[in-house]
Amino acid sequence: MEPLNPEAIRNRVQSVLAKIRSAEGKAGRPAGTVRLVAATKTVAVEHIAEAVRAGLSILGENRVQEALPKIAALTQAPVHWHFIGQLQRRKVRSVIGLFDLIQSVDSLDLAQEIDRRAGEAGRQQNVLLEVNIGREPTKAGFQPDDVVRLIPMLAQLSHTCIKGLMTIPPPTADPDSARPYFRQLHDLARRIAALDVPTVRMDELSMGMSNDYEVAIEEGATLVRVGTAIFGARHV
Ligand SMILES: *Cc1c(COP(=O)(O)O)cnc(C)c1O
Repeated sequence: MEPLNPEAIRNRVQSVLAKIRSAEGKAGRPAGTVRLVAATKTVAVEHIAEAVRAGLSILGENRVQEALPKIAALTQAPVHWHFIGQLQRRKVRSVIGLFDLIQSVDSLDLAQEIDRRAGEAGRQQNVLLEVNIGREPTKAGFQPDDVVRLIPMLAQLSHTCIKGLMTIPPPTADPDSARPYFRQLHDLARRIAALDVPTVRMDELSMGMSNDYEVAIEEGATLVRVGTAIFGARHV
């Protein structure tokens, strides 16, 4: 890939956005139904700012310590922030109100802490439930069956708006091998939607990264999280 300079970043943002539009078209989905979340971990603020000028509007960060100074530096930028990394209970208080969406709620315990802190702050926090769709022993996330079983309890959280599901499937060499996992997440979202719990929405499916976001769009993604394809390989 070209070295990271303003022009390269602009070109890559435009290219990813074009591929998203084309994948929507191929899948017979209306233009604009899929939103791009740029995964900005380890990326310097000036590079993020360039990408925002090129058309990004949602930024996803993984670590609270890294995210806070970036959010402070980019307060004038017309962007929304999503939290996409593993969130520790003791950090919850410091993120309420900063992120439009916490995509990575991976346990009932974390959901309850978010609800408690959002309540204290007088806010509603939008979240996605992260599902360990490949049932990998070392990966965070709800087990697919657990998430269905826990919906009645999650539904009671009055300061937390559940908007959908997120997943990081097992790493695969070719994008098409991720397809069954994307399909399973979509099926799981349909199952939960069929429970018809008014406070639990299944409008958002966050799945697909640099290697496989076009496949994820074919399988129903509404949010794709893309880092490397925009900012190049991470060296940290
Ligand atoms: C880093 C990251 C991404 C983006 O991965 P790329 O392969 O660089 O596109 C997506 N989701 C999460 C949760 C990440 O941490």
